[in-house]
Amino acid sequence: MSRLSLKNGAPKEISDEDQCPVCKSSRYLNRNMRFLVNPECYHKMCESCVDRLFSSGPRVCPVAGCNRTLRRQRFRPQTFEDIQIEREVDVRKRVAKVFNRREDEFDSLLDYNNYLNEVEDLTFNLIHKIDVDATEKKLKAYEEANKAAIRENEVLASQETQSLQAQEAAEKEHARLRREAALREAEEERRERAEGRLDVINQLARGEGNADEIARQGRRTLLKKSTARRVGTGDEMDTSDSAGTGLQFKGLRRRARPEPEKPFEPFGEVTVEHEYFVLKGHYAWDFLDTARTSQTYRAGGYDISEYCSRALTDAFAGLAVFVGEEQTAT
Ligand SMILES: [Zn+2]
Ligand SMILES: [Zn+2]
Repeated sequence: MSRLSLKNGAPKEISDEDQCPVCKSSRYLNRNMRFLVNPECYHKMCESCVDRLFSSGPRVCPVAGCNRTLRRQRFRPQTFEDIQIEREVDVRKRVAKVFNRREDEFDSLLDYNNYLNEVEDLTFNLIHKIDVDATEKKLKAYEEANKAAIRENEVLASQETQSLQAQEAAEKEHARLRREAALREAEEERRERAEGRLDVINQLARGEGNADEIARQGRRTLLKKSTARRVGTGDEMDTSDSAGTGLQFKGLRRRARPEPEKPFEPFGEVTVEHEYFVLKGHYAWDFLDTARTSQTYRAGGYDISEYCSRALTDAFAGLAVFVGEEQTAT
């Protein structure tokens, strides 16, 4: 069915997907050509063929070998390139509309999974045209028997979709308000900055006082204003969570401000005190004198008093520790 054509000097193959099987015209000749399919047989044809053939009432599909009767109002645009997928999606939609049970209607997850398995078996049969009559009969029987439940779940599902949409809209609105507030704040800050600068220039022009002092004063005023505004908006943010915007989010946790961190305590608040010795400023030892002055030792931050303190702590560490007590304690 495909043929070669010349486009921009290079040969380009026109595939079956771009050609109407009824009138043989292709996208190459008609750029705006649209294909329609009828869920009765899924034979695709172009829009003008559908108009021409079916405007005077239902008739048999023009594709050779297909004897199904088609109606014009059932034709719709093709969503998927692959007609098989188009058909599968339709079948799945139809089955899911009837079998719309929800997980909370079952006693256990296993029961729900078994139900889903059975539904998938039915869907598979319809898609692959296995036992179509029997499967259709089952589908019809189930639909008849469970009319009320199906309707109920339909309503529930549509309510869920609506509330989800409402929530999304509310979130969008909230984000928009926040964005606007930020823009307003930036604009105000810019304006104040310009005003402050003008003020400083005016004062300088009048020649009153020291120029450096005036500039410093101007900067300080500006800083004070911007800090005050930041504190102010911080408070606003807190109230906007609950009532400021008129939005209520259910189950939303209140955000707690983190505690300011304490300074790092390497010994876990245990004070290390010298109980058994007093550290002296000078110990008569040649090595210490050398180390105190030598750049080789001091360059790395070596501290003689730190060294002495540690040596003495080690020396007295065993005092007041009794081996017997330690052993019974552990
Ligand atoms: Zn056509
Ligand atoms: Zn057909």
